[in-house]
Amino acid sequence: MNDGLPHRPQQIWSQGEDHDNHFWFPTYDFPNDKMSWEVVATVPAGDLAVSNGRLVSNIVQGGTRTMTWRQEQPSATYLVSLIVAPLARIHDVWGSVPVDYYVYHEDSSKAWRLFHLTPDMIDVYSRLTGVKYPWAKYAQTTVADFFGGMENVSATTLVDWLPDARAYQDRPWYQYILIPHELAHQWFGDYVTTVNWANMWLNEGFAEFMPGQYWGERLGAHAEQDYYADEYRQYLQIDRQRPMPLASLGSNNIYPKGALVLRMLKGYLGTERFWASIHAYLTRNPLGTATSDDLRKAVLEATGENLDWFWDEWVYQAGYPKLDVSATYDTAKATLTLTVKQTQQDSLKPDSSGLKFTVPPVFRMPLTVRVGTQAGDVTQRVELTAREQTIAIPGVKSAPTMVVFDDGNHVLKNLTFEQPTAWLVTQLRRDADLWDREWVIEQLAHRTADTAAAAALAEAATHADYPLTRLQAVEALGDFPATIALATAEAAVRDTSAVVRGGAVQTLGKLGGAPALTLVRDALDHDSSYDVQAAALRALALADSTHAHDVIAAGLTKPSYQDAIQTAALRAIAQRGDTSFIGALEGLLGVGRFPSHVLASLGARGNVHALDVLTQHLNDDRAAVRRWVLEGFRFTLARLNHDVAVERLKGATGGITHPDTKRAATSLVEELQKPQGPGGN
Ligand SMILES: [Zn+2]
Repeated sequence: MNDGLPHRPQQIWSQGEDHDNHFWFPTYDFPNDKMSWEVVATVPAGDLAVSNGRLVSNIVQGGTRTMTWRQEQPSATYLVSLIVAPLARIHDVWGSVPVDYYVYHEDSSKAWRLFHLTPDMIDVYSRLTGVKYPWAKYAQTTVADFFGGMENVSATTLVDWLPDARAYQDRPWYQYILIPHELAHQWFGDYVTTVNWANMWLNEGFAEFMPGQYWGERLGAHAEQDYYADEYRQYLQIDRQRPMPLASLGSNNIYPKGALVLRMLKGYLGTERFWASIHAYLTRNPLGTATSDDLRKAVLEATGENLDWFWDEWVYQAGYPKLDVSATYDTAKATLTLTVKQTQQDSLKPDSSGLKFTVPPVFRMPLTVRVGTQAGDVTQRVELTAREQTIAIPGVKSAPTMVVFDDGNHVLKNLTFEQPTAWLVTQLRRDADLWDREWVIEQLAHRTADTAAAAALAEAATHADYPLTRLQAVEALGDFPATIALATAEAAVRDTSAVVRGGAVQTLGKLGGAPALTLVRDALDHDSSYDVQAAALRALALADSTHAHDVIAAGLTKPSYQDAIQTAALRAIAQRGDTSFIGALEGLLGVGRFPSHVLASLGARGNVHALDVLTQHLNDDRAAVRRWVLEGFRFTLARLNHDVAVERLKGATGGITHPDTKRAATSLVEELQKPQGPGGN
């Protein structure tokens, strides 16, 4: 399919994981089923067929091309893949291993910049794991309408969202996360495969962990912390919905918690012992399968340490420690005393089969406390061992200037620790760890009447040595009085990092007033970053009622990578409930799925015209538009206004002319009318 977009050629691609490959060849189709195989594809001569393993032959005869790919080492059957499309091949190598990037011909000028780090990533991963890249070649192929990436063995499939040159200043997810994630699977998932889906975190946790290691190797400790801090934010959001163990079927957190637990394991073991353990894990089970306990045994073999307790807390049980810490200082005894309470609750209920996950009442973990004093820092190694415990830190000869609980942020946790502003200010200036700084900024952000807090944030927003800290500081200032925050935001909007400028624009929008909004308009017109322009549009749509309409109208047609600016404009329309754009939205129905959702949201708020437009396009000539309109009904209208969605669709189905859409609409009506019993969904 090509979804009617001129840029996308006709193509086919396969997707096996979890159990879909048995729909196109006979297989038992479970991850512990390993085999070698050969794929022979005869395709139009102008197309290429990309599959797994070594290219054995490529013969053009008459109007056809026959390509034979042979996967000689065994791998899991869900990793068999085939892509056929008119593709350009950009050839690269890692040593003697072919490394190829397959993209549409129209995208070939963008491919090198996006993919050129691949051999270096292969190099770093081979070195860290001590296992040389195990396959005959590595191909990465971009395809349409893909959900992201899939680590098919030696032939990764990726979505066709190639960044243009300008997009790189916004640090595209594609290069930063997607490419190193799928590459990591070539070791974790493809070389050693989870024995069943309940241990899938062994695939996904490692794949999510490894990019941070790569960026740490190449860009330094801050880039590594930045990467995992983002995983941490994702994990907290997921855990809030439902805490689940890593090793459980359908676990919701295998990506971020998997990455964070492996990072914590590395922190606990130290770099050398950690990689020795990973090497043992890969070489004990080469081309085979593994359970979570196989990883524990590998650590035992490599280090002599039995980490039963670690696996029990972090792999087999759910949740994470919530620590409530308070401090008192005794001048006479030169001692700082910390009271540490673990407050995580196990309120999980059994599911319908009676299975109940548990949250440990006590997480046992070692960590370091760092106490700043005029005469230098005092550090002490302590061990979390109880629901409530007291920790004495002697040798603190003058009043503390800061207290860092878990120096270097090794333990996955939530920390509540009420501190005087002076401690936080000192820590923000001195602590090299980005997560610690993030925590400090969150504490200071609430102290909007405290000028010392404001000054520390202003200093960090303009002078911190890494963009993430400058960003978080300037964002925090958005809640402070404009008299204090405006000058800082004005400086930050000229930062060299687009990430910081985006935050500054958001803060300027929050502060409001003519001088701030002038700066935001200036960013919208002149900033070179798509994300900054999108942030400026969002800010003006909310804060500048006089110009909002014009700003949104201009944004709707402004080209940008991944339509960042147009998406911001569409969101602004939905947020404002602005019905003056219905005509424009109708004109945009063919560009992507989002405009139909905005029409649906206007309809859900009671606008009949928006509903009429949406309904008419159930008969659109473009199949993709019909699908997207139905998605608008299903995911937006039905969610916001169930009855209107059912009534509209029921009324419309009789008049739908395309059989595929008619069928889909009819079954959607049935689905929406199903009674939602108690506990349903
Ligand atoms: Zn993955």
